[in-house]
Amino acid sequence: MRTMTPEEKAYLISIGSASIDEALSADFLPTTATAGPGAGGSSVFIRSGGRRVRLSVNPASPLRVVPDRDGIAIVRNGETIVRGRLERSLCHCPEQAYITVSERCIYDCKFCPVPKLDGAIKDTETVVRMVEEAAASGSLSAISLTSGVAGSPEQEVERMAAVVRALRARFDLPIGVSVYPTADSTAILRAAGADEIKYNVETMDPAIFARVCPGLSLPFILNALAGAVEVFGRNAVFSNFIIGLGEDDETIRDGVALLARIGVIPILRPISASPLRAGEIAVERPSPERLLRLAAMTRETLERHDLDPRRARTMCLPCTGCDLTPFRDV
Ligand code: SF4
Repeated sequence: MRTMTPEEKAYLISIGSASIDEALSADFLPTTATAGPGAGGSSVFIRSGGRRVRLSVNPASPLRVVPDRDGIAIVRNGETIVRGRLERSLCHCPEQAYITVSERCIYDCKFCPVPKLDGAIKDTETVVRMVEEAAASGSLSAISLTSGVAGSPEQEVERMAAVVRALRARFDLPIGVSVYPTADSTAILRAAGADEIKYNVETMDPAIFARVCPGLSLPFILNALAGAVEVFGRNAVFSNFIIGLGEDDETIRDGVALLARIGVIPILRPISASPLRAGEIAVERPSPERLLRLAAMTRETLERHDLDPRRARTMCLPCTGCDLTPFRDV
């Protein structure tokens, strides 16, 4: 079976959803996300040769996943776009236990459903049990942790550090952590045993940042990222950079260059419009052409700065489900 091309993956990502044929219900392995683009909804993961894509389950989507020989096909108006197979997700995504510790947040980023979910705060024992269950599958290759800010950023970092220490003592797997930074978060999480870290800039357009992330500070996050590279090293510090908030390509190019210059690998993440945020924010999912153009630009920039996403072991860069990932997809 041929691998989906970068162009086909870009097309699927630009739509981002699919309905699922009833005949697949026995093999249908949806994952319900508590963080990330699909928070609050179900997704399927499809592997086609060397590439993977995540699609949100949406009965109204123009794409449909149907049985095809011994796998599946993604079709639109009866025309097959990609053939592949459904992949089993462990916790949130394939091959990883990617766990949201605090499913709630005191901040109010306008694109994010998490503050509206007002979900649970998992204790360390719960997280350890979830990782043990994922490990029992035999295909667990990484532990990734993320969190909203339930009380204060400092409390959240301490909660996360306790979880990391407990996991480090039990599992010989890479551990990646994504939190809102504090003055000491890099040192605390490194000492706890984390291998990789992600502090999200969300956008590199300061005017958009001020509008969509009230209460957060872009200069503080950038400063924390630079400090994290000194502690965690190159190819171990990442930052999500959302595409589709009204930023122009030049801002993205300059933002990617700035992040790469300080040793950070940006993850260009197509915006997902959350129904929980309807009316609060205008978003535009990027076209396939824009996704391909930006991924190629990011690859060139990373090459120039001797950064390689293939060396990342946790979180989104090895998963690739939501993005066109430089070096892996393009
Ligand atoms: S790319 Fe990241 S957010 Fe998307 S499914 Fe994979 S791990 Fe989750």
